[in-house]
Amino acid sequence: MRLLLVEDDPHLSELIPKALRSTGFTVDTCELADEACCALRNGEFETVILDLGLPDYDGMTVLREMRQGGNATPVLILTSRDGLADRVDGLNAGADDYVLKPFEIEELVARIKALLRRPGGALGMTLTAGNVVLDTISREIRIDGKIADLSRREMSVLEHLIRRLDGVVAKERLAESLYGYAENGSINSVEVSVHRLRKRLAELAATVEINTLRGVGYLLSEAAE
Ligand code: CA
Repeated sequence: MRLLLVEDDPHLSELIPKALRSTGFTVDTCELADEACCALRNGEFETVILDLGLPDYDGMTVLREMRQGGNATPVLILTSRDGLADRVDGLNAGADDYVLKPFEIEELVARIKALLRRPGGALGMTLTAGNVVLDTISREIRIDGKIADLSRREMSVLEHLIRRLDGVVAKERLAESLYGYAENGSINSVEVSVHRLRKRLAELAATVEINTLRGVGYLLSEAAE
């Protein structure tokens, strides 16, 4: 799952992605409101973590632009304790939650997970293909009822493929989601991750297969009996 962090504090923009990545999320970061708007126009994220005090514009500008443009991605605002008015404004402008600075990183991670778990969101809690079941929140994969031990990257690739079961997922899209941007190196790494994932799925007797569409991407389908 890919998150966008918009934060100009160097300490936080190192600490937050580190904690989230260790939980299995992919995190893109930007410091400026302008960069955030651009990232949001060009990519898809599951949640945006938005600081309000940014060097160029107020973070609220980013939120308003998102909502006016019909982008319903959950937004969690980071704001200081004295920013009560900001919080009210933020919720009015379409933020989904806020966390007061300073905060414990564990709390932030828990609140993000809670956002992703909300009913009515685009994200189901479990995704199923054949005998493979992925819990998007606990980050567990079960194959035939048994927990499968997959690496973070393998799991992320599988998640993208399951979300588009029987549909094609472009290599560039996977690269972007795993590494934050698509370039030659990351596309090669995607091929490596898919190769490993395929092997693991076979070892674990999964009833799905990853098909390669040359020059296009990958497609997950239930294996023929
Ligand atoms: Ca700030």
